[in-house]
Amino acid sequence: MHVRAGALNRLDLFVRNGIPGIPVALPHVLGSDGAGVVDSVGPGASRVKPGDEVVLNPGINCGRCEFCLKGEHSLCVTFHLIGEHIAGTYAEYVVAPEINAYPKPAQLSWEEAAAFPLTFLTAWRMLVTKAGAKPGETLLIIGIGSGVGIAALQIAKMLGLNVWVTSGSGEKLARAKELGADAGIDHSAGGFSREVRRLTGKRGVDIVLDSVGKATWKESIVSLAKGGRLLTCGATTGPNPEEDIARIFWNQLTVCGSTMGTHGEFSDMLRMFRDGRLRPVVDSVFPLSQAKEALQRLEEKRQFGKIVLRID
Ligand code: ZN
Repeated sequence: MHVRAGALNRLDLFVRNGIPGIPVALPHVLGSDGAGVVDSVGPGASRVKPGDEVVLNPGINCGRCEFCLKGEHSLCVTFHLIGEHIAGTYAEYVVAPEINAYPKPAQLSWEEAAAFPLTFLTAWRMLVTKAGAKPGETLLIIGIGSGVGIAALQIAKMLGLNVWVTSGSGEKLARAKELGADAGIDHSAGGFSREVRRLTGKRGVDIVLDSVGKATWKESIVSLAKGGRLLTCGATTGPNPEEDIARIFWNQLTVCGSTMGTHGEFSDMLRMFRDGRLRPVVDSVFPLSQAKEALQRLEEKRQFGKIVLRID
């Protein structure tokens, strides 16, 4: 594929800085998200042809293991992402299996098309498949500003949930309200569960999405209503939080881990972009030559939405 735009993800920082125990051969090309024009296809390809405008589902699965045969592609025993151990989309050209190429929604710019696959697929699987989120339920998103957090906010509002968000930044809380968040909680002074309890008359929320991990996990557990679901797809502050197991069984909570999504989920999510019901938030666009500056913006958490690389 001739890449027209690629997008940054926090994964890129982990890969660049080195994931313990997972060697990456150098030189390596970062980048999981990309959109562009099919340049050429291998023998036997039938889904796409040169000239097609496509977006990539970044998750690569084997198609043969027990999980793939059940349609659970992101549980594949060899599941990996474009740009993780193989060359990614911070490039003029990238090679991917044809099953990973989907038609680009026509109304999206190249930058927007590159901006949604990884984060929206991750958020879609968590909210729709794992949590079975229903209209009228309450969702609390910890640390709005991240790509997954904003994607979850947009999907949840589309589904008719009441969505609260937390952030240490008043500006990010204001931006989230512009996107439909029903309330924002400033967590810079410390815990947020007390405020959640106060706002819900001690009940708590139905669903919490916490990809922050160690720093917020216990507060997230305490923020849940009885029978609530805690969703996690990452742990940016560390994977080993203080745990309160008694609260988990006594309140009959469900902890749902999730990674990426299936091809079926990607298709369902893509349809919402094609129908104009979802549109990604692009924070900023950098030329490929300034990938380093783009990564720095991500590392300093200055973004609200996706940081995109334009490839001329
Ligand atoms: Zn497999």
